[in-house]
Amino acid sequence: MKVLVAAPLHEKAFEVLKDAGFEVVFEEYPSEERLLELVKDVDAIIVRSKPKVTRKVIENAPKLKVIGRAGVGLDNIDVEAAKERGIEVVNSPAASSRSVAELTWALILAVARKVAFSDRKIREGEWAKKQAMGIELEGKTIGIIGFGRIGYQVAKIAKGFGMRILLYDVIKNEKFAKEVGGTFVELDELLKESDVVTIHVPLLPSTKHLINEEKLKLMKKNAILVNPARGPIIDTEALIKALKEGWIYGAGLDVFEEEPLPKDHPLTKLDNVVLTPHIGANTLEAQKRAGIQIAEKVIEILKSKA
Ligand code: NAD
Repeated sequence: MKVLVAAPLHEKAFEVLKDAGFEVVFEEYPSEERLLELVKDVDAIIVRSKPKVTRKVIENAPKLKVIGRAGVGLDNIDVEAAKERGIEVVNSPAASSRSVAELTWALILAVARKVAFSDRKIREGEWAKKQAMGIELEGKTIGIIGFGRIGYQVAKIAKGFGMRILLYDVIKNEKFAKEVGGTFVELDELLKESDVVTIHVPLLPSTKHLINEEKLKLMKKNAILVNPARGPIIDTEALIKALKEGWIYGAGLDVFEEEPLPKDHPLTKLDNVVLTPHIGANTLEAQKRAGIQIAEKVIEILKSKA
């Protein structure tokens, strides 16, 4: 059977596929026109957030049995069209949880200790010691919105920092909450009580602009808000207002309502915000895990259908 890998994958993933006896064709991010050609005789396609696996691509692949997405999110795959043909769509959502959690802490610490600001000032020739007064975390309260895979990893690290942990989720996993010493509360209480608020819910109609002007106003003046989940969960305009008018201390953002963030976006003009270009899952370890996990899932499905 033939597997098309249409995005860069860790070398170990190629080994896993070849060792399982599959023929592997690799072409990095082909155009739709080229993809239509490539899929004609393949049993599986593996992609990342690119290229797009459209209905047209699926219709052009008569032998296709499985589409694998290394990583999280299926936005680039026409899942409905795949379903109609009985083609399975799989991803590897757990592969990057720890990496996203560690980036969350990088953002929290960068905001709390004004790391990015200080670095910018030094490069500009300024020794901005007085302006870089920071906040200590031990003994403070962290509010984790979304206590799933990533939220749990963030909580484990919070425990090491000696922080009190508040949790908000529609599903209350008391076993994991107990393990990290966290307490489930309502969203408004979490926002009012927390010194650090971090978001780990998926983007859904129920979470779009979950953090809006009203919610930002509930937060403490010295609170840090971090979003490594999805941009539209925060109302960006309201956040800019909050950061400019000092309703909160600062924010750390890995995701945005518009990505890539436009060059002169108002967020780039603010000193109390730390910005990263959606790099939560960008670690060697997460990429390796994502590749191997997706290869193994694809193999399992192909073997079950052989
Ligand atoms: P998960 O499914 O394990 O956890 C999400 C949690 O959110 C679940 O416990 C769920 O019950 C809860 N939830 C869902 N809707 C809710 C609501 N309306 N209110 C409160 N809680 C709600 O997901 P995860 O693996 O922890 O990932 C969380 C999010 O992180 C993903 O959906 C993705 O958007 C984002 N993510 C970002 C990056 C990055 O590069 N920055 C990488 C991976 C994932």
